[in-house]
Amino acid sequence: MSDFARPKILLSRCLGVSPVRFNGGIINDEFVERIKRFADYTDICAEVDIGLVVPRPRMIIRKTGSEFRFVEYESGKDFTESIIRYCNRISGLSEEYDGAILKAKPPSCGIDNANFYNERNNKGKTDGFLGRSLKALPNFPLSDEGRLRDEGLRYRFLVSVFSLADLRFSRIKSSGDLVDFHTRYKYLLMTFSPKNLKILGNIVAGGDIPVREKVLQYKVYFSEAFSKTASVKRHYNTILHIFGYFSKRLRPSERTNFIRLTENYLKGKKPLSVVVELLRGYALRFENDYLLRQRYLNPYPEELDN
Ligand code: SF4
Repeated sequence: MSDFARPKILLSRCLGVSPVRFNGGIINDEFVERIKRFADYTDICAEVDIGLVVPRPRMIIRKTGSEFRFVEYESGKDFTESIIRYCNRISGLSEEYDGAILKAKPPSCGIDNANFYNERNNKGKTDGFLGRSLKALPNFPLSDEGRLRDEGLRYRFLVSVFSLADLRFSRIKSSGDLVDFHTRYKYLLMTFSPKNLKILGNIVAGGDIPVREKVLQYKVYFSEAFSKTASVKRHYNTILHIFGYFSKRLRPSERTNFIRLTENYLKGKKPLSVVVELLRGYALRFENDYLLRQRYLNPYPEELDN
């Protein structure tokens, strides 16, 4: 099948890299460990990298008026400026990366799910400082170990980072190379964003623009496509398109089995991977090289499924 380019990701250091949590702890997450085998990562820890020690006093987000501050819970000592400088520096590196996996919930790394405390010590939820900074980057794939347990969110994250890595590593030197790259993504793009598929097709077919320029434009709409949600209905549509290549060559019982399986997928009773696996099997059986090269049938290493 395919070799996969290794995505470059930013990773919270306490996710299995070193024991840098405020209490000297480390988080061992089975799925994050698996991803590490297929990606190159740079570990980051906002709190330690701005000079806080391990173990350290508990840090919190304090909301004062409309402003969020990064402070020590007990003493109120304020580290907001340091952490903002740090977050700006990390965001500035994002062009070199295909995505980030942060630790869920802490005041530095959390995405949507960090606690803040107002002047009366009432709690609410917001982004951690680094979470907010990376979330603000347009179309930058961002997740945490909690979200990666959700099948749909995990699929989208993995598709995004492996597709972006593929684009980064593909040596696109000519218009023909770009056509070839785009062809392999036809069904995946159709599932995530038919609108972007069309825009990207126009970029690929565009006339007198140097290829380098085309690739830069292509990257913008390519990464934007994967920031959208691929609905079950869109997957269903893509699945039927691909099934059209084989349906007449299958036995009636095989057709019935396929339709039953896809309907079960539509009803949420079967995972997407089961249907895709079956389509991949048909593509192999009928030696359909065009489909075997489609990233839809092979978007990331299968070891990362489930
Ligand atoms: S959550 Fe972020 S800041 Fe806190 S220990 Fe982990 S990596 Fe460091």
